[in-house]
Amino acid sequence: FLPHLVASLEQVEQTYIMVKPDGVQRGLVGEIISRFERKGFKLTGLKLFQCPKELAEEHYKDLKTKSFYPTLIDYITSGPVVCMVWEGVGVVASARKLIGSTNPLQAEPGTIRGDLAVQTGRNVVHGSDSPENGKRETALWFKEGELYEWTPAQAPWLME
Ligand code: UDP
Ligand code: MG
Repeated sequence: FLPHLVASLEQVEQTYIMVKPDGVQRGLVGEIISRFERKGFKLTGLKLFQCPKELAEEHYKDLKTKSFYPTLIDYITSGPVVCMVWEGVGVVASARKLIGSTNPLQAEPGTIRGDLAVQTGRNVVHGSDSPENGKRETALWFKEGELYEWTPAQAPWLME
């Protein structure tokens, strides 16, 4: 076990990141994964997946009353998505920053949505909004055997 990682173990969070169907169709999967990878977070789950309607509804259940909910469910189930779990200290808030504002026209340049999208309804990527939702969404989209615990070779060069 690497002693330098022990101190921060309690602060380690999980976030559920998903390349939405537009990101897959537009060939942005590598570009999006690359941004989380280069930042230094750890990938613990990854799969291409066709989302069933029931899962999309469960994932977005908090938005059920919104006018855009039916089109949101159609969008998320319209083609394969790339599901990921990224792990690290502060990963939830940091991933939201890397992703940028919900409306891509308001998202800062340098963010995924700011650089790669123009419309809220086609904003290419999802990221959990709290550590609790990171856990909830990870459990929703991944089975236990699909997640991997491992120590990246670069770990001592990322965390002191
Ligand atoms: N969405 C939409 N219209 C809106 C607001 C949201 O189509 O006016 C979609 C959009 O794809 C967004 C998702 O619903 O990413 C979830 O909304 P949320 O407010 O949770 O935004 P996010 O957390 O994805 O930034
Ligand atoms: Mg959200």
